[in-house]
Amino acid sequence: MTTHLVLVGAGHAHLHLLKHATALRRAGYRITLVAPTRFWYSGMAARLLGGAPRDACSLDIAALSARHGIEHVTAPFVALDVHTKHVFLADGHHIAFDVLSLNVGSDVVPPTPTGATVPAWGDARYWHVKPIERLDALRQHVLDAAQQRRALHMVVVGGGPSGVEMAANLAGLSQRLEANNAIRLVTRHARLLPAAPPTASRWASRQLSRLGVDWHPDVALDGGAGWLDTLDFSPDDIILATGLRPAYCVADLPLALDDNGIRIKATLQSEEHATIFAVGDCASLIDYSLPKRGIEGVRQGPVLLQNLIALQNGTPLSDYHPPATALAIVDMHDKGLALYGEHWRGGRLALRLKRYIDARFLQRYR
Ligand SMILES: Cc1cc2nc3c(=O)[nH]c(=O)nc-3n(C[C@H](O)[C@H](O)[C@H](O)COP(=O)(O)OP(=O)(O)OC[C@H]3O[C@@H](n4cnc5c(N)ncnc54)[C@H](O)[C@@H]3O)c2cc1C
Repeated sequence: MTTHLVLVGAGHAHLHLLKHATALRRAGYRITLVAPTRFWYSGMAARLLGGAPRDACSLDIAALSARHGIEHVTAPFVALDVHTKHVFLADGHHIAFDVLSLNVGSDVVPPTPTGATVPAWGDARYWHVKPIERLDALRQHVLDAAQQRRALHMVVVGGGPSGVEMAANLAGLSQRLEANNAIRLVTRHARLLPAAPPTASRWASRQLSRLGVDWHPDVALDGGAGWLDTLDFSPDDIILATGLRPAYCVADLPLALDDNGIRIKATLQSEEHATIFAVGDCASLIDYSLPKRGIEGVRQGPVLLQNLIALQNGTPLSDYHPPATALAIVDMHDKGLALYGEHWRGGRLALRLKRYIDARFLQRYR
C-alpha cells in the first residue's frame, strides 16, 4: 500500500523533494505536486527586471515533475480540510492526501497597517515585487515606455534588500535603454537596509546616488494618500517592496497560525498535525522569528526529505536548526553588497559571487 504525499507549492524545499523523488517512492510514497508550471527564482529577481531571459531566471516545473515521475497539477491550492484530509483547488477539484507538505512562499506586506486600498492613492500603476514573474511585466513596461520616448516617474517603496535591488536595477535598465526615467526610493526607516551594519547602508546609499536614484528616509506611508503629497511629481509607477508576509492562501487554513505563517515544530511538522508539514516563507518556526529568505527553504529541504522518510519508517524525526547567520548578497545592478552578520563587502566581486551561487542553485534542477 502506498502513502499519498501531496506537495503544495514548488518552493525551494520542495525542489529538493522533487529531485529526490526516488528516495520518497522507495519509502512507499506516491507523490502529487500542486504548483504553477514555472518556479521563479527570487535570487534572480533583480536580473529578471534588468533584462535577463525569463528561462534563465526560472525553472520548468512541469518538465521537472515529468522527469521525476511526479503527478503535477497546476490549479492553485485554495483550502484544506484537516479532518477528511483533502486539499481544495481553485478549479473546483480536490485531492485526498495521507501526508501533506506546504511550501507556498510569501506575498508583499500591505504598505499601510490597515492594508488601505492602494488604488485610492492616485493614478499610478502599482507593482508588487512578489510574485517574482510580475517583474518581467514591469521590465516590459519600462521597455515600452522607452520605445515611445516616454520618461517614467517611478517610486520604489521600501528600503530593505528587495527595494534597494529594485531601485538599482530600474536605474540600470533605464540607463541601458537611454530612458530619462526618474527613480525614487522612499523608506520608513532612517537609513537603507536597516538590518545591515551602518557602514554597509552608507555604501548602498552612495551606489544608489551614483546610479541616479533619489532616496528619502523617514517617509511613513501610514497616512495613506498623504505621502504622495511629499513627492514633487506625480508617479507613473509605484513599486511595493514593503517586506514579505506568508502567502495569502495560508491565512484561512485550519492550522495553528501566527503572523509569520503556519506554526511548525523543529521537525517541520505543523504544531497540531503530525502528517502536515510546512516549510519556507509560509511557515513560522516556533520560538524563532526568522527573516523571510530563500536560504531557510533551501536548508529545510534535506531535513524535510529525511523526516518524510522517517515518518514512513516509524523512526525518530530530525530537528531543523536555522543558521545563526547567513550570507545575503544584494544585487545593485553593476555591483553587489555581500552581507554576513556584522561583516560586509561591496563591489563587482560580490556581484560575481551572487551570480555564481544563483546559477549553481538553478543548475541543480535543470
Ligand atoms: C525582489 C526579491 C528578491 C529577493 N532576493 C532574495 C535573495 O537574493 N536571497 C534570498 O534568500 N531571498 C531573497 N528574497 C526572499 C525570497 O523571495 C523568499 O524568502 C523565498 O522565495 C522563499 O522561498 P519559499 O520556497 O518559501 O517560497 P517561494 O520561492 O516563493 O516558492 C513558493 C512557490 O509556491 C507557489 N505557490 C504560491 N501560492 C500557491 C498556491 N496557492 N498553490 C500552489 N502553488 C502556490 C509559487 O508559485 C512558488 O513557486 C527576495 C525576495 C524578493 C521579493
